[in-house]
Amino acid sequence: MLDQYGRSIEYLRISVTDRCNFRCVYCMPERGLDWLPKPQILSYEEITEIVRQLAPLGLRRLRITGGEPTIRPNVETLIAMLRAVPGIEDIALSTNGVRLPAMATMLRAAGLDRVNLSVDSLRPERIAEIARRDLAFDPVVAAQAATDAGFDPLKINVVLMRGVNDDEIEDFAALTVAHAWHVRFIELMPVGDMATSEFANVVPSDEVLARIASRFGTLEPTDGPARGNGPARYQRIAGAKGTIGVITPMTHTYCDTCNRVRLTADGRLRTCLYGNHEVNLRDPLRAGEPLEPLFRQALADKPKEHELLQLRVGGLKALSQVGG
Ligand code: SAM
Ligand code: SF4
Repeated sequence: MLDQYGRSIEYLRISVTDRCNFRCVYCMPERGLDWLPKPQILSYEEITEIVRQLAPLGLRRLRITGGEPTIRPNVETLIAMLRAVPGIEDIALSTNGVRLPAMATMLRAAGLDRVNLSVDSLRPERIAEIARRDLAFDPVVAAQAATDAGFDPLKINVVLMRGVNDDEIEDFAALTVAHAWHVRFIELMPVGDMATSEFANVVPSDEVLARIASRFGTLEPTDGPARGNGPARYQRIAGAKGTIGVITPMTHTYCDTCNRVRLTADGRLRTCLYGNHEVNLRDPLRAGEPLEPLFRQALADKPKEHELLQLRVGGLKALSQVGG
């Protein structure tokens, strides 16, 4: 199904909870948020019904996200239900990895195809500082658990913050030499608590790649992992098993190839990460109305690009204009 700019929309990111066992500095306030009351949250049956109605319109790939999806009880049940929807080809999950060593095998058995692990540091005390929670978590153990459970490709997402974790760029890159893992450096988006931070906290991806090349030698271009939905561009250290990717929401636009929409935990279909383009699917679903017209309406309104891009032009002053 095409949106108003001719982009084919086949990828849905499903948030199954707004809660999290971390409080990452760039994502959530330390005190947490006003959590959604349970009755407002879509049940697994409701999520599956939405996917069932959108699949005939061209929906092919799903990502389970949040909040932290692994803290919603029995999330593997949802995965098994979504796996059974005709037309769905690929189901991935984004996680901070804390519960992955305990859950990886079960998630794989339920039909999950892929895992993306969010890791911002390899140093225990720094992980606790960025996540503002000390859960004695070792990301390399979590990544290995995912690999051992059969998740392939395994992508590791690193949000870089200048002066916070950018001194670990080379350590993350070194992981790809020994492991067939795909490390992706994501440019910090100044939203939430980080909205007050300076644009200078963003580490541009061109700088990231230059630093890796100066340590490991010229990087080779590569197509990256065979399966994936996203906007990352990939390169490889000579002889490495894995790849290095960059995701550049701040310095290079990729909105023109955007293939995705999002479903919030309380059932709003959002057609852009930022901005207020959304349609309530939950109430019509609960009233027994068909969702197709709402989906068509949502795609007709999908914006050309996200509002954060204005920051590239407007600088820091524009932060307030996007509402923080
Ligand atoms: N809790 C799961 C996790 O951390 O992977 C799933 C949800 S989390 C919101 C999804 C991704 O968004 C993570 O990779 C996280 O690093 C990224 N993210 C959150 N806030 C961000 C920001 N301000 N800038 C860039 N990436 C951000
Ligand atoms: Fe946000 Fe994910 Fe960090 Fe939780 S783990 S605070 S959802 S980025």
